[in-house]
Amino acid sequence: MISHVAYSQIIDNGLEKIKSTNLMHTVNILSSAEFDGRLPGSEGYNKAANFASETFEQLGLIPIGKDGYFQHLKVEYNKIDTPAVLQIFMENKKRTYLHGSNFVLRGFTGSANDTLPVAFCGYGISRPDLSYDDYGKINVNGKIVIVFKSNPSWKLNDETWGNELPREKSRVAYEHGAKGIFFVSLPNDKKPQPLIGSVVHGEGEQLENFPQYHISIETANDFLTRTGLLLSECQQRIDDRKAPFSLLLRTNARIQVVAHYKKEADTKNVIGKIEGTDPKLKEEYLVIGAHLDHVGSPAGLLFPGANDNASGSAGLLGLVEAFQHSQLKPKRSVLFALFTSEEQGLFGSKYFVENLNIDTGKIVAMINLDCIGYGDSIQVGNGKSSPELWSLVRKTDKENLNLMVEETWGNGGADATPFHEKGIPCLYFVSKESYDHLHQTTDTAETLNPKTLEEIVKLAYMTAKEIAEGKYIREEVKNIKE
Ligand SMILES: [Zn+2]
Repeated sequence: MISHVAYSQIIDNGLEKIKSTNLMHTVNILSSAEFDGRLPGSEGYNKAANFASETFEQLGLIPIGKDGYFQHLKVEYNKIDTPAVLQIFMENKKRTYLHGSNFVLRGFTGSANDTLPVAFCGYGISRPDLSYDDYGKINVNGKIVIVFKSNPSWKLNDETWGNELPREKSRVAYEHGAKGIFFVSLPNDKKPQPLIGSVVHGEGEQLENFPQYHISIETANDFLTRTGLLLSECQQRIDDRKAPFSLLLRTNARIQVVAHYKKEADTKNVIGKIEGTDPKLKEEYLVIGAHLDHVGSPAGLLFPGANDNASGSAGLLGLVEAFQHSQLKPKRSVLFALFTSEEQGLFGSKYFVENLNIDTGKIVAMINLDCIGYGDSIQVGNGKSSPELWSLVRKTDKENLNLMVEETWGNGGADATPFHEKGIPCLYFVSKESYDHLHQTTDTAETLNPKTLEEIVKLAYMTAKEIAEGKYIREEVKNIKE
């Protein structure tokens, strides 16, 4: 419909509806304390899902879930109550640490109420097959272990470390008799990872009485005081020799955590449809998705997730409004999906593609909105896997906004991945350099750039309208070796 005129030259009442004030209003609601960090399984998430489904209804979307706009699924859920205690005891000294400043509880921590000795166990890896074992020469029975959250940047025998995710490291520590684990970021990284809110990644048994903390590098150094070493020196020593260097620290930690774990909690995607107007093309679909969930508020510490991903969720609701107010009705059908449990492992988007009543071969494209409100430029990912679709958005940007950067990537990314894996061309909209506050308590609405948010949503809208018009023909997706 707009091959020779810039989209902004066309009168489209929908485009006029996309305003930063409206989008920021939604971001403020979703990132407020009332929604409690939107952890799947929690009251806060359900409130956010209700808010979204009410908005879908007001805007006249057709419900396509088994329960109205809701598509239910089960996920693991861990409710963490107050208090969150960490104190250090060393000779006659005691120091109390602050949750949020000196440590954060990890999303799948178990409960505890104890005072225990502490040991440092390097990377927390036990790989006898590689002759590498951080637990080989130390007895951690009944102790809390401090381990690096990430894996070494070096390799042994050219083998990768595999899946030593925090969950796996906890299991290894537990099997060696440890009573709890403190993860710490690598002090010698150029920019060590700050304290972050988390949910569990991967599968495994929940260790219900095994506390898991992420402590700051400074806090770890306090625990190391009596060894005369700094954490950075310990890392250096391990990395230089590619050999374990584990230590008993002769300090005690007082810990208290109250967690209630559920193996299967109910959560839901929120899904709706606009039916296409063309008798033939309406059997083809464009999917627009964004994840609604975030990492919650362990022991009352709120992770607002304003950029991640109240911004994308607000963008999606803004797109519904724009589509519904446009006098130019889409020929293809458009599905809108707010996904649950992205943070836990893309469970909502995977469930969506696996449980649709339509043939995924009929989905011509998927647009993902994730972290779209920070900084001042636009990046559109997955261009390497769907170059024709990407050039459509590139052209639309050039003619209208000129804010898109050239860099892109392949193979989907986050909620686009399950679609990409089904052979569906995807575009992943994100604001460039979006991750300064990622999974931190500082990811608040005040840090966002309303102008960027509006521009990304406008670009997504113009692109979506072109796809829905039927101009774009689904291309063969490319798998990229990166
Ligand atoms: Zn996200």
